[in-house]
Amino acid sequence: MAPKYLTGDKAGIDEFLSRFDVFLFDCDGVLWSGDHLLPSTAETLEMLRSKGKQLVFVTNNSTKSREDYKKKFDKMGIPCKVEEVFGSAYSAAIYISRILKPQAPKNKVFVLGESGIEQELATENVPYCGGTDPSLRRDMEPEDYTNIANGSMLDPEVGVVLTGLDFHVNYLKLSLAFAYLRNGATFLATNTDSTLPNSHTLFPGAGSVGAPLVKAIGREALALGKPSQAMMDAIEGKFQFDRSRTCMVGDRLNTDIQFGIEGKLGGTLAVLTGVSRKEDFLAEDAPTVPTAYLDKLGDLMG
Ligand code: PLP
Ligand code: CA
Repeated sequence: MAPKYLTGDKAGIDEFLSRFDVFLFDCDGVLWSGDHLLPSTAETLEMLRSKGKQLVFVTNNSTKSREDYKKKFDKMGIPCKVEEVFGSAYSAAIYISRILKPQAPKNKVFVLGESGIEQELATENVPYCGGTDPSLRRDMEPEDYTNIANGSMLDPEVGVVLTGLDFHVNYLKLSLAFAYLRNGATFLATNTDSTLPNSHTLFPGAGSVGAPLVKAIGREALALGKPSQAMMDAIEGKFQFDRSRTCMVGDRLNTDIQFGIEGKLGGTLAVLTGVSRKEDFLAEDAPTVPTAYLDKLGDLMG
């Protein structure tokens, strides 16, 4: 069915909002764009709260922990509780600690990623290595090839490789991750976004950082961010919502809107302030079509 255009349609907005008790919000491209708050974000969230709607902020950004995100909300002047944030680093950490439950002596996670992942693993008491370890921020030296090959540089406790966005990705880290995968480690990714938007353009995303490992090992990682339903199940496990009364709001069709559709939510709402354009879902053969769309989130104010 064609998506309903809600900007300027007060009656349409009221009817749409009445269908939902819970709103899952993507963050970047919906609430803000990089470090720039989008118009009327705080007022819109406040309006939804005043109508008794439950809000959950669901981000694929694994470079930040939920605590980091709370600080970002504070900086942006948007009221939010840390418990309302659900990031892909947290999703991966609880998947490992509560579902995968890797057993000693192979219970350590090798991280290809930033401190957001490390913080969330630490909160779940999951041991890890790699990550922001400064000794890995260097070129591969001839002895590294030998020491990886003979295993002396490998931590024998590693049983999981977790990839996210790593701003310091290099051949040494990729080679270590690959060695662990070849030794049978479980392959996880916080998210597999191909690109990472900033206010001006796109950069390679977490999926592009992990792609060399997928190519080398010949199998995909299990992703724990949008659109993976492992993340939806984890969110539902925590917030116990009725999917038919829940709406996913996002700017990206192949992560956010797909996430809501695959999760059989009651509806999806696309905003045009981020990655996807309306031509992407209005085309006759569009693979992913939201229930409704707005020029920007603030248009929900009517
Ligand atoms: N991954 C990283 C590293 C990011 O910085 C961002 C956006 O800031 C994203 C993913 C996408 O985040 P979201 O799911 O909130 O759009
Ligand atoms: Ca987004």
